[in-house]
Amino acid sequence: MIVDSHCHLNFPEMVEDLPGILERAASVGVTHMVCICSYIDEFAAIRAMAEAHDNIFCSVGVHPHDAGREAPVTLNQLLDHAEHPKVIGIGETGLDFYYDKSPRDIQEANFRVHIEAARQTGLPIIVHTRDADEKTMEILGEEYKKGPFPGLIHCFTAGADLARMVLDIGFYISFSGIVTFNNAGDLRDIAKTVPLDRILVETDAPFLAPVPERGKRNEPAFVVHTAAKVAELLDQTPEDMARISSDNFFTAFAKATAT
Ligand SMILES: [Zn+2]
Ligand SMILES: [Zn+2]
Repeated sequence: MIVDSHCHLNFPEMVEDLPGILERAASVGVTHMVCICSYIDEFAAIRAMAEAHDNIFCSVGVHPHDAGREAPVTLNQLLDHAEHPKVIGIGETGLDFYYDKSPRDIQEANFRVHIEAARQTGLPIIVHTRDADEKTMEILGEEYKKGPFPGLIHCFTAGADLARMVLDIGFYISFSGIVTFNNAGDLRDIAKTVPLDRILVETDAPFLAPVPERGKRNEPAFVVHTAAKVAELLDQTPEDMARISSDNFFTAFAKATAT
């Protein structure tokens, strides 16, 4: 049993192949997946998908890339949508200073609204951070002082300082297929330092297919390759890592129930 804690099943190339995607996931033991919301206009479709499938959960939030594409998300919007039983996390949100697809001040303001929603709902915030370690640590640190909130860094690619800082405030760290890439030695070194009870795995499908599927369109079934690599780094068997990361998933996303 293993869970894909982060994927985008609502993207057109995923939707058209959804029955096959779910079948292949089930065939390798992927029992649950979380379809992540990137902006409010797509939330209704994501929620409908989660309602239609027992093993698909979803989140609500606005990706930093999309922070400038619609009216700024409000706290009340997030809180309202978060009441739905299949919504188990807030995000994805955060800062992406690599692509800078939205103005940084809007990314930052959005991030803080999501943090407040996580604080009020108790649902974990799903943080995307790329080339923005300093600012991410600054915002998380400032906000944490105002009151704690649960969360995780998804598709972790940040540095060791950020890893340490978020572990200190109780966050989980989620690894994607990047951890299997040849040039990801620094990331593998960090992975070796993360406590076993704080590790999650994800695909971020349709992006970032892990080795040996690299270059293909990604899908939840491929999360087993990422889990196997993380297992190797932490001296676990793939079976143990699958179990540990699943247990962590249901602890981190406490609103999700394993049915
Ligand atoms: Zn992301
Ligand atoms: Zn994503």
